[in-house]
Amino acid sequence: MTAETTKTAKLTRRQALALAGGALVASSAAAQAASTGSASGASNQAKLTQVRNATLRIDYGSVRFLVDPMLGGPGSFPAFPRTPNQDRTNPMVPLPVDVAGLVDVDAVILTHLHHDHWDAAAKAALSKSLPVFVQDEADAQAVRGDGFKDVRVLTPTTEFKGVTLARTRGVHGSPAVIEKMGKNIGLVCGVAFKRQRLKTIYVAGDTVWNDDVADAIRTHRPDVIVLNCGDAYVFGVGSLIMGTQDVLAVHKAAPQALLIGSHMEAVNHCVLTRGALQAFADREGFLDKIKLPKDGETVTL
Ligand SMILES: [Zn+2]
Repeated sequence: MTAETTKTAKLTRRQALALAGGALVASSAAAQAASTGSASGASNQAKLTQVRNATLRIDYGSVRFLVDPMLGGPGSFPAFPRTPNQDRTNPMVPLPVDVAGLVDVDAVILTHLHHDHWDAAAKAALSKSLPVFVQDEADAQAVRGDGFKDVRVLTPTTEFKGVTLARTRGVHGSPAVIEKMGKNIGLVCGVAFKRQRLKTIYVAGDTVWNDDVADAIRTHRPDVIVLNCGDAYVFGVGSLIMGTQDVLAVHKAAPQALLIGSHMEAVNHCVLTRGALQAFADREGFLDKIKLPKDGETVTL
């Protein structure tokens, strides 16, 4: 027996566990390096950055996605009509990250084309040859009209660079909202990101809690669910996206899933703050199952 193996043999259980932990940290660092492109090979890690409003950067293994980019500076468009906080302009807060790094992606996903998900600054900043995934042919035509050359319509089984991008359905408001504002406002989609050895991430998009969301949870059994939950409000109509009760309903339908709150505190009609939702989750007993990242914050999954 060499001196080295003698030393190893004398390790206490606690020391051995500490060493194993170090190895885990090292392998996780390597995976992170791979996902940022500084090492080769597919990573088994996903990183989700809450950029601002519904804009997300998702590095899913080694494939990098930008979701619903609104990249304009503060005040680049007025308050939405017939909504609270008319004295504010949109976006209400600056972009927290550098645009050049943000748009260095493999593909863009647009859940729908409302101004707070796809703006002039995004159209200008993104390469026109990037693949852009959209919910339907009508949106595809509009994005082709913006000059993008590789626009693809999502399906429930879309594949891209080894990642399944499953289109999910949703409705941008309650039945009362759709009745008052018209069917077209309701047309949105979500996406479930799936790949072996990676957590399934379901980005629900601009929808309220409804059967579509319940179906998506049953179908995809997501580990992580991103919810647009700023409770965007229109006077005399109601909410266009999730509020506290919708988030609670999602938690009850997927009690094991980690919920990530997005689309908050960035445009004028979003009346639910991160602080209020956090207090609600605490009162309802699911604070350990929700994260409310700040703009610019990255969650490793
Ligand atoms: Zn929105």
